[in-house]
Amino acid sequence: MLIVGNWKAYVESKTKAKALCVSAKRLALKGEHEIVIAPAAPHIGLLAPAKPTKGGLMLGAQDVSITVGGAETGEVAAGLLKELGVSYVIVGHSERRARGESDEIVTEKARHALAHGMTPILCIGEAYRDTEAQYLKQVRRQLSAVMASLSAKERLSIVIAYEPIWAIGKSELEAITPNDLSEMILYIRKVLTDFMPGRANQKVRILYGGSVDSSNARSLAAGTGIDGFLVGRASTDVAGFSSLVKAVS
Ligand code: PEP
Repeated sequence: MLIVGNWKAYVESKTKAKALCVSAKRLALKGEHEIVIAPAAPHIGLLAPAKPTKGGLMLGAQDVSITVGGAETGEVAAGLLKELGVSYVIVGHSERRARGESDEIVTEKARHALAHGMTPILCIGEAYRDTEAQYLKQVRRQLSAVMASLSAKERLSIVIAYEPIWAIGKSELEAITPNDLSEMILYIRKVLTDFMPGRANQKVRILYGGSVDSSNARSLAAGTGIDGFLVGRASTDVAGFSSLVKAVS
């Protein structure tokens, strides 16, 4: 499985960042799962290994600039992330969309990441579920907006993270049920076939994110069709993240 820890802005000290990183490295070295940590931008430089080891812990970024850099106060250019050894870039997280990021901006970010040899993790997910299943349209729109702009080769390199907004940052009791998750993964695969006919869409990895922790990871992983998790809060606790990874081992 691909297990990505999105530290958001939870980690405010170098000591904590280093401790989380050491522990994640150990989990990655077991070779059972692909482990990625996505620290806040200043911590990427702090944690970047001088020599990245193949099969070891991978670095992710929580965002990327839409432009190539230059006069862009506060932005982090894709070229810099790549130079620091970043392999994955989260794009379209609902917490960024809530700050005004449109599908067009998210698409540009995904393309920037790809152009710099990094894998975008495209976050999609509905705000709430209505009884007429209109929420499926929101998921389709977010996914289609990006896929329509990518080449056939680029489509194969993207990772999708299904993250229903209503399940983010809650307790494990409010996470999605395995049944509802299976249905949504099938739906996302169906939308993907519009852009990737035949079996090609099976190569796209789909993660789930939203209140995953060590208590529900196993049931959400079993038989739902997901290829991994995007984990927020639970990834910022050394013991918690470690037990989560072990739970799906
Ligand atoms: C997220 O925001 O990407 C996320 C999955 O958060 P949490 O695990 O805290 O719900």
